[in-house]
Amino acid sequence: MNNNSLSKILFHIDMDAYFAACEIASRPYLKGKPLVVTNHYRHIVLTASYEARAFGIKTGMPLYRAQQLCKTLKIVFADPDKYISTTGSIHELLLTITDRFEPLSIDEVIMDVTQVSSNYCDAAKLAYKIKFEVKKQIGVTCSIGISPSRSISKYASGVNKPDGLHVISKNNFWNELKNIPASEIAGIGSSTKLLLKSVGVYTCIDLHKCRIEILLKLFGQNAFHLKSLILNDAVKTFYDREAAKSISSSHTLIKDTDNIEILTSFLEFLVWKVSDKLKMEGLTATEVSLSIRYEDFTHSNHSTTLKEPVNSTSMLYNIGKAILSFYLPLKKKVRLLCFRVKCIEPRYKQLTFLNMQKSSRFEVACQKINRKYGNFTVKPAMVMLFEAFGKPEKVIPPVFTDIYGKTYRATR
Ligand SMILES: [Mg+2]
Repeated sequence: MNNNSLSKILFHIDMDAYFAACEIASRPYLKGKPLVVTNHYRHIVLTASYEARAFGIKTGMPLYRAQQLCKTLKIVFADPDKYISTTGSIHELLLTITDRFEPLSIDEVIMDVTQVSSNYCDAAKLAYKIKFEVKKQIGVTCSIGISPSRSISKYASGVNKPDGLHVISKNNFWNELKNIPASEIAGIGSSTKLLLKSVGVYTCIDLHKCRIEILLKLFGQNAFHLKSLILNDAVKTFYDREAAKSISSSHTLIKDTDNIEILTSFLEFLVWKVSDKLKMEGLTATEVSLSIRYEDFTHSNHSTTLKEPVNSTSMLYNIGKAILSFYLPLKKKVRLLCFRVKCIEPRYKQLTFLNMQKSSRFEVACQKINRKYGNFTVKPAMVMLFEAFGKPEKVIPPVFTDIYGKTYRATR
């Protein structure tokens, strides 16, 4: 197998027991004690310190169970603002090295160091430097995985946790892949693992070698995603990600109308597209607007600012409907609708599980089906009304506008 596609050096930097570590950094008397961070509402363990993990305490466990396992357990309530600001400080530190990094969650980033390290020896030195500085300046430890691929680096960061470093260099890459079970790769869950086993795919190298036709039969369109997991070396830079300030979707109707049911159906179609894009990019929005262009080409815009960042389809749809009601009763027929969200923040600032703002199981299921079989395979019944009215033949992908006002179309 050739090594040409292994030209990048990628770090996966993962904070160790992050929320617990942030609490210990601000309250040193907690150091060395079994400690869990919990939320105010559900009383489940969000993060357990390594001392607590020694008692068998895990993330997601009910608090009462954790207390049964360890009588001297220290309990701290989560402080999202503290974790967000600590993450901000970590990102500032990383920016002194390169801006080519992408936050994957509040405590993880993927970083492309190809331009600042000429080889794996340099890269390992840089990783030690980052670990040292994060510990010294922020007071928390991290584990770093290094390899030419996103998913393999993510796997590697977990190998020597906590405070670990693991390198899978370009030269060892194919050999090491023989020993890594495919199910160790983020995104390959237990059901995928079983299906893969049925065609003899056990390790990452098996997955890499497996013919796409075989995977297509098992996983539909998802096969391409699965196949790309092993060698994916794409990193969106920190600024690229921060720069996406608005996402919109707009369509001209096939014929002008003032039928509110059709317009509501049309709105739902637009909301689905925008929220899908938000979720794909791991972003949330705090401002929502709806513009209307009328039959005489005059146009009007209403917007609303939200208290909490949102990317749930149903919430955005309800907000969209509320905005649409501002336009009623309609005096003219509508020619075009544009649904737009603004002030987009990366997901790590959202802390979904703390804010209790989750997509419903229904939404998640729809999203999975549509990813596998194509957009709008499953859709709200309302959208069919609009389609019956006359769906525009060419579906235009959502448009991004960055902070400099430059717009570009989303591609899949
Ligand atoms: Mg972590």
